[in-house]
Amino acid sequence: MRFVPSANIAELRESATIAVSARAKALRAAGRAVIDLGAGEPDFPTPQYVVDATRRALDAGSMRYTQVEGILPLRQVIADQASELHSGERLGAHQVVVTAGTKQALFNACFALFGAGDEVLVPTPGWTSYYEMLMLARATPVPVFGSLQRQLKITPDDLLAAATPRTRGVMLNSPCNPTGAVYTRSELQAIVAVAAARDWWIVSDEIYRAIAYEGEATSLLSVAPDLERLVIVNGVAKSFAMTGWRIGWSISAPTLAWTMTAFQSHTTSNAATLAQHAALAALSDRESSKRAIDGMVCELRGRRDAALAVLRAGGVSVIEPRGAFYLYVHAGAATSSDPAPGTSFANRLLEEHEVAVVPGVAFHTPEWFRVSYAAPREQVLEGVRRIVAARIS
Ligand code: PLP
Repeated sequence: MRFVPSANIAELRESATIAVSARAKALRAAGRAVIDLGAGEPDFPTPQYVVDATRRALDAGSMRYTQVEGILPLRQVIADQASELHSGERLGAHQVVVTAGTKQALFNACFALFGAGDEVLVPTPGWTSYYEMLMLARATPVPVFGSLQRQLKITPDDLLAAATPRTRGVMLNSPCNPTGAVYTRSELQAIVAVAAARDWWIVSDEIYRAIAYEGEATSLLSVAPDLERLVIVNGVAKSFAMTGWRIGWSISAPTLAWTMTAFQSHTTSNAATLAQHAALAALSDRESSKRAIDGMVCELRGRRDAALAVLRAGGVSVIEPRGAFYLYVHAGAATSSDPAPGTSFANRLLEEHEVAVVPGVAFHTPEWFRVSYAAPREQVLEGVRRIVAARIS
């Protein structure tokens, strides 16, 4: 009998970012020398001090279930470090829920906060999974487009123009995937003010906060006076090069943390125990973590500058990233014969020039495509040279 998907997932689309990487891997397996600038994954190894601490945790037998919300020392260190940023009351471990990656923290929050009939504003271009997660929660994602003069960032006026009486929240992501744009403190203050006046929730995805080129990006924790209508999500994947360890977390008001824990108790229970110990080690050793992150950001800055120079010399229109590790490139204006120039260019680039990038349609902006520079520098440079060449050919 043919499988017919349930109404729950009938509209679901595969993650375009993961699909591109899979296609690049398949071409490589077939012997093609593909340069993969599609993956949103640091190419650095997990820092050795984290690996060593995890080995010790394994030897100590850290293999059993933990509390659904995560081991106390990890939640405590997350709460303590968040309290250093927070302008309001000290945050406690009971406000932290440790999850299987930041994705799960976002999913918990979307499910707990939004439902049928609710509209949620998504600054666009925005990370591909926000739209899908909101739809899985039966809410309606409402793309809000930022203007090019502001590196595609949105303003409170943009949010207000898209809002209706059904608007319940905003998904924020600074530094932003896919543009690398970073919201300044005053921009965030203005957004928080408009959200507070309308009683909207803000889900602030700060996974790239440590990867910023003009000092750490501003956390909403240091802007919002309390967590009444705010959920912060973060994780170790990007800043500690720990993608495969799958550890993220949310910080919220205690009642919401409790609700998300109850939800998680019926889906995955605790995040992998050993990985929780790895994240604890990553965060606790401040000196080693600073050294690891500073080294990675320094290398990424060098790649960004070199890649930007090649693209600009080639006359390519690109947003200068201030954080994360992506270059967002304009492929051309949409026309009736080519409504998604980012997709047609990305397809041609992969098939004819063997470079994988992610079409902007994944981020709801089909004229663009995303280039990741979380790949070895020579590959990034060769990849952007081929992009310039492909635009001419
Ligand atoms: N949020 C953003 C903006 C991302 O780019 C990603 C990963 O690509 C995630 C969340 C997911 O992070 P994790 O690997 O911790 O689930």
